[in-house]
Amino acid sequence: MVFGLRDTTLPLLAPGILLLMGYALLSGIGSLPWSWRGGLAFAPYAVLAGGLVVSCIFHCGRAVYSLLLVAIGHWLLVQYFAGGWRGGVVADIVYAAYCDLLPLNLILFAFLKERGILTPLGFNRFALIALQVATVALIAGAGTWLQASAAETLREAASGMLHARLLPPSFDFWTHLPQPAILAFAFALIGLLARLVITQAPLEGGSLGALAAAAVALHMVGQGPAPTVFFTIALLILSLAVIQDAYRMAFLDDLTGLPGRRALNRQKKNLRDHYAIAMLDIDHFKRFNDTHGHDVGDQVLKMVASRLKKVTGGGKPFRYGGEEFAILFAGKGKEETLSHLEDLRVSVATSTFRLRGKNRPETKPSGGEAPRDGGGGKSRHRQEALAGTARIGVTISLGVAERNGRDDTPDGVLKAADQALYRAKNAGRNRIGK
Ligand code: GH3
Ligand code: MG
Ligand code: MG
Repeated sequence: MVFGLRDTTLPLLAPGILLLMGYALLSGIGSLPWSWRGGLAFAPYAVLAGGLVVSCIFHCGRAVYSLLLVAIGHWLLVQYFAGGWRGGVVADIVYAAYCDLLPLNLILFAFLKERGILTPLGFNRFALIALQVATVALIAGAGTWLQASAAETLREAASGMLHARLLPPSFDFWTHLPQPAILAFAFALIGLLARLVITQAPLEGGSLGALAAAAVALHMVGQGPAPTVFFTIALLILSLAVIQDAYRMAFLDDLTGLPGRRALNRQKKNLRDHYAIAMLDIDHFKRFNDTHGHDVGDQVLKMVASRLKKVTGGGKPFRYGGEEFAILFAGKGKEETLSHLEDLRVSVATSTFRLRGKNRPETKPSGGEAPRDGGGGKSRHRQEALAGTARIGVTISLGVAERNGRDDTPDGVLKAADQALYRAKNAGRNRIGK
């Protein structure tokens, strides 16, 4: 389960199911008792309140702003279109402005760095939303502060912009959504999908799902309870994404993206009779930190983790702590894991790690087999240093142990693997201890 969290599809699972539930609910809504249908009006506010509480608990500013934006949409549709779709220049401007701006805001929040909620930088997002609301309100309500003819001109100009016809009419004949909004939704959905593929973060899936649900709600404007159902679902999708994100944070190591010790402890409970555990430690890692700085040390950890993610033989890697990693081989004995561990050792030892810019070493670090230079000797090292890059080598030592008999607990096997690792270190490092 923990590994699935890194998957791109899982963050889309809950939004997908909720969207389908929305359609199912809509088709069966006529047969619901009246009291239920009355309760539906409160559902978006209840979900909004829950979502805001969860987002505040986990300090997720992006979710707070996204929830507020979606809730504004619901409120606007209730204000202007509760009795069905109606024209009129004010309703038109408010609807088109919201449709155009929602996707742009959601994609913007996806790219802005998380800055908390009630912090000065976090508050900028509130200010941005407030500015947009105020601008739209000023234009839509121009009749109250401008002469009638000037107000009319301003509104018509704004409406013309918001409904700009950029593509042939066949593009939007099927919906109330104006063309710029259709393009903005397409742009934001593609952008969020790309971010989801890269980061695999539940919040990207949440924003994507919420945007899709909001698009359906806005498309169904004036069609009875449909917009309320889909705005509620948009809010629910965002709230669940925050919870999913918090769960992921608890189990995944931030630096390497590997499951952490907590995930390993969970996984240990699921082990059956036959399994092996490998422990792995980067050789002379302290020297990377001492010679090149802590940031380079972190880069080395990431590089080793990226090789570990590709370990074969069904091994599941974990960051055990610091520069130590564990690999679980469920259903395998020690001997069966050796070739996979050897492949891993070689893949780390043969990967070149490039240093750039000011962190490059002035001299080749001395002693031991790591860090070592790229194998080109002193002149190569000097040339690379002059060019602003240098290669350093990284090696790992491993120890592996298996469950032997009933008395072996996962912790006992882990300890045995640790002792085997110690033997590999003593035998000269860059090898597997058994
Ligand atoms: P050996 O070959 O015997 O394993 O030697 P070593 O230098 O790798 O072992 P040691 O345990 O002495 O050093 C581990 C170092 O790892 C000490 C600590 O500062 C560093 N370290 C632990 N976690 C991190 C981290 O997240 N980032 C960085 N950059 N360094 C870390
Ligand atoms: Mg160590
Ligand atoms: Mg070490």
